[in-house]
Amino acid sequence: MLTTTWHSRYNLNSRLKTKFRRKLNTFQKKCPNITPFMVKTKDMASNWWGKAWNANLKKYTFNTIRLEKGKLLFKCEALADFKINSDHIKAIVLGSNINPYKVKITFEPISETKWSNIQTLYAGSLESFEKILDNQFPNEMTDIFTNKLSGLFPSQKEISFNCSCSDRVNLCKHTAVALYALGVKIDNDPKLLFELRGVSILDLISKSIHEQRKNILKKARNKSPKVLKDTNLSDIFNIEIQQGRSLQSSGNSNQH
Ligand SMILES: [Zn+2]
Repeated sequence: MLTTTWHSRYNLNSRLKTKFRRKLNTFQKKCPNITPFMVKTKDMASNWWGKAWNANLKKYTFNTIRLEKGKLLFKCEALADFKINSDHIKAIVLGSNINPYKVKITFEPISETKWSNIQTLYAGSLESFEKILDNQFPNEMTDIFTNKLSGLFPSQKEISFNCSCSDRVNLCKHTAVALYALGVKIDNDPKLLFELRGVSILDLISKSIHEQRKNILKKARNKSPKVLKDTNLSDIFNIEIQQGRSLQSSGNSNQH
C-alpha cells in the first residue's frame, strides 16, 4: 500500500516536472529575461528559521490544501520567475492555463514600536550578531521572527497577496508557490526578511554596540574615579582624552 502511494506520488511529480519544463521552454522563448527558480533541496528549508517561515504560512489561510498544492507545484518547478524587491515579491507561476499566473506579495514595513521592541530585546546580543552576519541565527533568537506581537514574520494585516488566476481566495496555490520559494531564500539568507520589512540588521547591530558601550562606560564610571574624571572632562569640554593626556581640543590646533 505504502509502496503504491509512493510510486503514485513519484509518477505525479515526475509528470508535473516534465509538463512544467516543456511550458518553461516555450515561455522562455517569449520572455528570455525570466529567472526560473530551481529547487535544490528536498526539504526546501533546512534551518530553523526557514522551517519556521514555512510553518508560519498556515496563519495566512484556513485552507491548507492550497498550501499543500503550492508546495507540490514548487517542488515540481512551476516557478518560472521570482524577483525580490524592496518591499514586495513578484513571481510567475506555470499552471494549467496557457498563460502563466502573475503573483505579487507585498510586505508592510514593520512598525516603529515593534522595531524598537526588537532593538531593546536584543540590545546586548553582540555574540549572537556575529553568528547572524554568517547567516546563522542562534536558537535563542526565535522570537525575533516568530513572536506574535513583535516578530518580523508579518501578521495577516502586514502582508497582502495578489494573483492573476480566477481563484477568489486570499491565498491561492500560485501564491503559495511564491511563499515557499521565499522560504528557501530566507533559509539561505535570513537577513532578507529584515529588508522586506523595511529595516536593516545593521541597525540592530549598531544599536546593540551603542547600548553595550553605554553599559561599559557606566560600569567604568562606577568603578574608577579616574575614568569618571576623564569622562566628565570629555563630556564637558568636548576634547579627546587618551592615557590621561589632552591631545587636541575640538576645532583648535595644538598649542605648546
Ligand atoms: Zn493564483
